[in-house]
Amino acid sequence: MRSIYLDHAATTACDPRVLEAMRPFFFEQSGNASSPHRQGRQARRAVEEAREILAAFIGTAPVEIIFTSGASESNNHAIFSTARALKTKGKHIIASAIEHHSVLEPLHQLEQDGFQVSYVKPKADGIVAFEDIKSLRRPDTILVCLQHANNEIGTLQPVEEAGRLCREQGIYFLVDATQTIGHIPVNVKDIPCDFLSLSAHKFYGPQGVGALYVRQGIKCPAFILGGDQERGRRAGTHNTTGIVGLGEAIKLCRAQMPEETQQEVKFRDEIIDFVLKEIPGGVLNGHPQKRLPNNAHFSFPGINGEELVSALDLAGVAVSMGSACTWGKLEPSHVLKAMGLADQMALGSLRVTVGRWTASQDVTYFLEQLKIKCKNASSNS
Ligand code: PMP
Repeated sequence: MRSIYLDHAATTACDPRVLEAMRPFFFEQSGNASSPHRQGRQARRAVEEAREILAAFIGTAPVEIIFTSGASESNNHAIFSTARALKTKGKHIIASAIEHHSVLEPLHQLEQDGFQVSYVKPKADGIVAFEDIKSLRRPDTILVCLQHANNEIGTLQPVEEAGRLCREQGIYFLVDATQTIGHIPVNVKDIPCDFLSLSAHKFYGPQGVGALYVRQGIKCPAFILGGDQERGRRAGTHNTTGIVGLGEAIKLCRAQMPEETQQEVKFRDEIIDFVLKEIPGGVLNGHPQKRLPNNAHFSFPGINGEELVSALDLAGVAVSMGSACTWGKLEPSHVLKAMGLADQMALGSLRVTVGRWTASQDVTYFLEQLKIKCKNASSNS
């Protein structure tokens, strides 16, 4: 049976070259990066090398990188640490309503603890207006959270403008760049932020490892306590294999990104053109151009998205409705609702995300199957 993977926004397979770079650190070089002996020092050197690679890639210094277990931890860290450090200065936070749940849930918890959060809805094209963020700013605003790209509909957000405003006003700015790192250029010299989060498994690295950029000089107390690792900013034995994998994955993205992006855009646009021409009622969600190079997201009126995803799965194609983290909730996505989509359109959604190993014949087969499944679903409804 065919096995075609078009769900790269959920996770990407680990590149074999990444696995190869990680291998020695499972075996002959498997020391604890905090141990003083040779094996420990080898592990530490590898961790620091990966830190340098990532730092250079996003335009910062190694000291500003904290390795974490992934973007969820990074987002939690940035939000809870800011709240703790700045609560005497203010208790107001601004966030887009379409942030990932690893941003929204910590904010909901802070609301229970007396913080006020203003949520900014995007326009119908899935992009949050910078002016809307600006108009909500108050003297007691301590933090703004705005993702670089949305994980469901792929729209790119005005992080550069929002960052400039925050910097001028002395407001901390968290950018969740989990969907953009390794896919489009991300540089903190262009995006003036205080925190930037990422996960290696979104760019062909291993799962369970990520990083948080923390701008030097800002107040950011440790979030996970119990050890001096990461200069006392994140306790816990280093995930050396994961961190080495993250560094290697970044190296590969650095070399391949321009070519890869071009290929992704070609497939993405082929998918979008086909759906808009060939699937009756199919609409594209999110801005047609200001979106991730690999993301196409649709709604099909009258079609149940979960059934469509399952039917495609049976045909050997892995796609999703939106976020993998919310599958099975049977509720319309908070992203699509915030954009103003009716429940019926939100529940009939499909996210297709191409990647490094997507081949032309994969796209052709997927589109054939999609047409058949949509036709079947419409005649059954
Ligand atoms: N933010 C965004 C935008 C994401 O897409 C994801 C993963 N779906 C996360 C945060 C969380 O990443 P992880 O599950 O690797 O912690």
